Amino acid sequence: MDDETTRHDQYDELVEQVAERRAHELTAHQRSCAACRARLADLADLWHGVDAVGAEDVETPAGLPDRVISRPHGRNHVDVVIDEIGGRTTVSSTVLSLIATSAIVHVPGLVRVHSVDVRADAFALAVTLNLQRPLHDVADAIRAAAAAELWRLTGIVPPPLDIHVRAVDTAN
Ligand SMILES: [Zn+2]
Repeated sequence: MDDETTRHDQYDELVEQVAERRAHELTAHQRSCAACRARLADLADLWHGVDAVGAEDVETPAGLPDRVISRPHGRNHVDVVIDEIGGRTTVSSTVLSLIATSAIVHVPGLVRVHSVDVRADAFALAVTLNLQRPLHDVADAIRAAAAAELWRLTGIVPPPLDIHVRAVDTAN
């Protein structure tokens, strides 16, 4: 059942709620579901960190950027390591996934983000797309939006972004 009061919130829905600063506006489901409230609170905590990064001026570094994605410590644990004069900044895969998801939630033709897998050699997204638009056009738009936002907020040039179209929606 897709009933709004019994269905658990999807990852992208929670990200959008947090990114649009509506984390305090609980839905009927969230008021009655401790699990979804907890996920929402976790994402809101993470988002404070993302906001702090975004508030800084982002300048194109002189010379080659020395921002690299470190070796994975495990399948789902990759940090971006930003070596700067004065210290090292690391950004977790969870935050990278948040940034990428929030950047693409409004791409026309994207219906749902099922998962974001951040790896050192590629980011992998599983999505549902709307069949009213060519799938490859939507995929290109997703890649462009995610890459631009990752660059703006972290200074990294993202690795290839693999998109797995898991399902399609034929509704207008
Ligand atoms: Zn729930």
